[in-house]
Amino acid sequence: MPTALGRGLLGRCPACGHSHIFNGFLRVVPACSNCGAPLGAARADDAPPYFTIAITGHIVIPGMLVLEQMKSPPLWVHAVIWIPLTLVLCLGLLRPIKGATVGLMLKLGMMKTEDEAEPDAPLP
Ligand SMILES: [Zn+2]
Repeated sequence: MPTALGRGLLGRCPACGHSHIFNGFLRVVPACSNCGAPLGAARADDAPPYFTIAITGHIVIPGMLVLEQMKSPPLWVHAVIWIPLTLVLCLGLLRPIKGATVGLMLKLGMMKTEDEAEPDAPLP
């Protein structure tokens, strides 16, 4: 489990660790080019943004409150510090967290099966 999570965090195939898991910023490749692991069948959905927002919020909000309590700076100081930090943290954490989520799902066998309907498919 830690190996799959670590490989996913680094953007590598959670199964073999040799090929890239992403084709683009967040698009997961359908299958590993080295070992054939069905990476595209791991539908992470909203989990990576949820974890990213939770982690970022637990860093930014306490920092903002501590700075306000200690120094009471003007609002523009808060804006200059916390808005860029929030953007950097969100963009920097989203991809590794998605990789780790895909690794976790692959390890736990939480993969989409072929008989599951596509979410965008029209209802019969
Ligand atoms: Zn692989």
